[in-house]
Amino acid sequence: RKGNVIVTGASSGLGLATAKALAETGKWHVIMACRNFLKAEKAAKSVGIPKENYTVMHLDLASFDSVRQFVDNFKLSGRPLDVLVCNAAVYLPTAKEPTFTADGFELSVGTNHLGHFLLSRLLLEDLKQSDYPSKRLIIVGSITGNTNTLAGNVPPKANLGDLRGLSGGLSGVNSSPMIDGGEFDGAKAYKDSKVCNMLTMQEFHRRFHEETEITFASLYPGCIATTGLFREHIPLFRLLFPPFQKYITKGYVSEEEAGQRLAQVVSDPNLTKSGVYWSWNKNSSSFENQLSKEASDAEKARKLWEISEKLVGLA
Ligand code: NDP
Repeated sequence: RKGNVIVTGASSGLGLATAKALAETGKWHVIMACRNFLKAEKAAKSVGIPKENYTVMHLDLASFDSVRQFVDNFKLSGRPLDVLVCNAAVYLPTAKEPTFTADGFELSVGTNHLGHFLLSRLLLEDLKQSDYPSKRLIIVGSITGNTNTLAGNVPPKANLGDLRGLSGGLSGVNSSPMIDGGEFDGAKAYKDSKVCNMLTMQEFHRRFHEETEITFASLYPGCIATTGLFREHIPLFRLLFPPFQKYITKGYVSEEEAGQRLAQVVSDPNLTKSGVYWSWNKNSSSFENQLSKEASDAEKARKLWEISEKLVGLA
């Protein structure tokens, strides 16, 4: 049978390119989990994904109710779940004030981390029950959260501190909207959320890999300077960022190529190792990359897991 893969945020950028790459092989049915149903439907058509190879299902990661409803709807569909890809993200680098999810959490961490945390916890049992030969849970990471790299050292740097803001609920009312308890900074909130994504992947691996045989993995697909992720940035940045990445840092990767990379992490029989953060070198072959000290801190991962469980209502 075909594999069934859920891709969050498949309505644009990396998610869409990945959905296309997987659907084109004819071996996958892609469940495009998107907040804007019409946009996703149009996007799938515009890149020519064959109708029989995808289903759009509504998911707004900025609302726990919506996440729970998505999971119920998916279960009702009767499809087995073979791979879950947590890809969606928001990036608000120019925001002066924080904005919040339906449940009152700062939007970047609320969407990118907490929404995906709840989603993957609720779908773990489905992955476990699938009889597919290689079951995987993939959480898209980023170089920007990794302070052991040049890109990760561009200020403001990611730093979760002692997680006091997260413990306080990231509400911006009685606690700081930032994980480390500091002043709001949209660019930092995004980087922090990506560190959470990479820590979560490793904690999943430690808790569940042996028992479930699910492969837990993360990746940095390269700098896809053309996606909608930078839509909130100032116009001059959006003009100069793609050529800067292409010619100066040479970290630039096209959406299509990045989609092939993520599709590889979904389906390549050679990439079954769990607990790994994949990257690609210049000739586009994959390798196991090192995470920064903070992004591989097992004690922090455990603490993040426990606080997140409380915040999403699982503990
Ligand atoms: P895009 O902005 O193009 O795509 C983000 C997707 O997330 C969109 O489909 C968007 O939906 C969706 N999304 C946002 N908020 C929600 C929500 N509340 N509920 C459901 N879906 C939501 O960015 P990219 O494709 O660049 O980003 C994809 C991933 O790649 C992210 O995890 C990002 O961190 C990562 N990444 C990107 C890099 C880059 O250089 N671009 C580099 C490294 C990692 P909608 O279409 O409705 O807006």
